[in-house]
Amino acid sequence: MPGYELWSDLEKKEVNDVLETGILMRYGFDGPRKGIWKSKELEAAICETFGSKYAQLTSSGTAALTTAMSALGIGYGDEVITPAFTFVASFEAVLSVGAVPVLVDVDDTLTLDAAAVRKAITPKTKAIMPVHMCGSMADLDALQAICKEHNLILLEDACQSIGGYYKGKALGTIGDAGTFSFDFVKTMTCAEGGVVMTNREDIYIKSDGYTDHGHDHLGVDRGADLHPFIGYNYRISELHAAVGLAQIKRLNEFLAIQKNNHAQLKAILSTVPEISFRRIPDPAGDSCSFISWFLPTEEQTRAVVAELKAQGILAGNFYWFDNNWHYIRKWDHLKNAVTLNALSPELKARVMEQATKDFSASHAVMNRCISTAISLTWTEAQIKEKGEKIVAVVREVLR
Ligand SMILES: *Cc1c(COP(=O)(O)O)cnc(C)c1O
Repeated sequence: MPGYELWSDLEKKEVNDVLETGILMRYGFDGPRKGIWKSKELEAAICETFGSKYAQLTSSGTAALTTAMSALGIGYGDEVITPAFTFVASFEAVLSVGAVPVLVDVDDTLTLDAAAVRKAITPKTKAIMPVHMCGSMADLDALQAICKEHNLILLEDACQSIGGYYKGKALGTIGDAGTFSFDFVKTMTCAEGGVVMTNREDIYIKSDGYTDHGHDHLGVDRGADLHPFIGYNYRISELHAAVGLAQIKRLNEFLAIQKNNHAQLKAILSTVPEISFRRIPDPAGDSCSFISWFLPTEEQTRAVVAELKAQGILAGNFYWFDNNWHYIRKWDHLKNAVTLNALSPELKARVMEQATKDFSASHAVMNRCISTAISLTWTEAQIKEKGEKIVAVVREVLR
């Protein structure tokens, strides 16, 4: 999964370019920066690499989601449909713009179940936000059809699926807007950072201003910029962008290793007939950052997780059903709408509705799922050893 595993001289060189001039900010200082514009270069590389018309870097993936939602006009009174299995940032971003996160079931793709999405649509629904979890994609044809039918926005949270594709198009570039995270453990990293990608010029221009206090970036200098709307500071720094610039140049190398390691591990797990795998709407587009697999029952899955733990080999194998960060079951702070500052009573009540919804369809998928993170540093021998240990544990439990 993570580009940080292969830290190299290339990252040091790009960062050093910035350290030489000392201009750590992405805007202004045109003279002293001596032609070094790492953020602009990275944005151009993102457009080129993923086939997006526009890219706006941000300080994090969470900030990218907030920015995209603001640029798309999502706010007060709007409902955003998003999955019960995701990283907490997805619903945090919805709340940050004052909209209502409407969590719905996932299916065996580990992403939004299109039928559940349909059931959740109300006159207040403004957007559908699929999350392409664990390196692979939602059924975008089905979701796009729903968006078209109901005139809804499609915003892709592609933070975990850098390098994934759906029918030839990069994940994150298919909806009205899409986001990547470049935090430390993502497929490519800036240490911290994110990006909003869009093919719509209006969304790009709004994202650009929103991430920099509403500056229109049309003045002869920053002081002369106008502020057509209120923004915030979600800027990336040149130091962070420099790391990302090195990483994007190496992305194909990372993805090739990831796919190779994934294929080897999958071949070993596939020797157990009772192990099944996550359904992938476009198998060729899997970024392969994780391999997600199922056992027939929750009881068997729990027994395997317990035994992996007992043998000290659980690391890198995620049982999301019990995870504090990624699944509705443990999101008590969301279900109780615990915030530091007061929410409007109306929004608070809507947020707390998530506590009483029936997620049994998701539970039936997630309680049998284990996701194994694919490391870029594994040797062939290590993959074999790891795979065979997992298989031995599974066979023992199933016996
Ligand atoms: C990592 C992640 C984010 C947020 O990214 P940060 O850069 O850590 O803020 C959002 N959504 C998903 C699904 C993620 O995995």
